[in-house]
Amino acid sequence: MMRKEVIKTFSAAETRALGEKLAPLLKPGDVICLNGDLGAGKTAFSQGVARGLGVTDPVTSPTFTLINEYQGRLPLYHFDVYRLGGPEEMEDLGYEEYFYGRGVCLIEWAQLVEDVLPEDRLDITLTRGADLADTRVVELVPAGERYRQLVEELIESVRTGD
Ligand code: ADP
Ligand code: MG
Repeated sequence: MMRKEVIKTFSAAETRALGEKLAPLLKPGDVICLNGDLGAGKTAFSQGVARGLGVTDPVTSPTFTLINEYQGRLPLYHFDVYRLGGPEEMEDLGYEEYFYGRGVCLIEWAQLVEDVLPEDRLDITLTRGADLADTRVVELVPAGERYRQLVEELIESVRTGD
């Protein structure tokens, strides 16, 4: 049984801050999958991760480039596969070099290429809250021991506020 954690954020800044808290816990080869509708906050979360990794370049949605690479404490590979035709095109991108490489992968719209995703990974789904326009429900579902530990550490970090 997988553990699921749910965190609510109430502004884009809070979602960025959550990503920033995840960053110091990340290790080479980690794969973080981001799902949720357009405007859910996938890129905001990614910007926070990048900031936490010490990336100084501005991070934008790689919707047209499909993948952007940044250098921080670890290399960051930021995917947005929304416009991808399907998993075959992931092959053309050479995704394996990234997924099983020395950096961290953040994949926006990951569910669209589910077939090529590693079994062990962290799935993060952002949805709009029903109450206020700026509320987001952030659901964290880890698969595999590494990611269960990662989620535990993140929750601990959120709880203690450091
Ligand atoms: P996505 O990459 O999922 O399409 P973006 O991160 O680009 O989404 O955009 C999220 C939009 O929602 C931004 O305009 C942001 O200001 C707004 N927003 C409002 N509240 C939140 C929140 N709690 N978390 C993230 N974004 C929020
Ligand atoms: Mg985006």
